[in-house]
Amino acid sequence: MEALKRKIEEEGVVLSDQVLKVDAFLNHQIDPLLMKKIGDEFAARFEKDGVTKIVTIESSGIAPAVMAGLQMGVPVVFARKHKSLTLTDNLLTSSVYSFTKQTESQIAVSGNHLSDQDHVLIIDDFLANGQAALGLASIVKQAGASVAGLGIVIEKSFQPGREELVKLGYRVESLARIESLAEGKVSFVQEVRS
Ligand code: 5GP
Repeated sequence: MEALKRKIEEEGVVLSDQVLKVDAFLNHQIDPLLMKKIGDEFAARFEKDGVTKIVTIESSGIAPAVMAGLQMGVPVVFARKHKSLTLTDNLLTSSVYSFTKQTESQIAVSGNHLSDQDHVLIIDDFLANGQAALGLASIVKQAGASVAGLGIVIEKSFQPGREELVKLGYRVESLARIESLAEGKVSFVQEVRS
């Protein structure tokens, strides 16, 4: 997605050869127009897949997921990372190792918002080692629902997440695929789209 790649080039900050900071439009300040385009692109890529619900994880997955949900006309459920007094019913949980925080945490979704009739698009902001995506897929499966695929805003293709997910049979649609962050420079995977 060219608009996203341009934004990454202009406003992304390479923190190391493993980590990209995009606080200017996705992880802290949010660019609503870009989010709308991202949501539309996910909707177009999954329009024929019978998606009934989108599942994401707080907090940075929510903006792109809501825009996709708006365009697809389906509800959006976000997994919580922290315990809440109001999140008590019929909990579906998974343990996720956070790439950026380097700690293990429990993520949770109430089973009241997912059923075995759901066909779910999982959306997240970044794909690195695939832990967040696998945790969300596990929660979807605990509800008896099925996974239509994964919609990723920024994939770091030099890390193993995509390969792991594809090996398990999941479809991964990433809007920007980063080949390398070496020497403070973002380079993208060259893609030939049909
Ligand atoms: P994974 O679970 O695939 O290892 O990592 C994905 C999660 O870690 C995303 O939800 C995202 O919050 C965070 N993450 C991974 N790599 C980066 C990165 O380079 N920059 C930012 N801002 N977040 C990242």
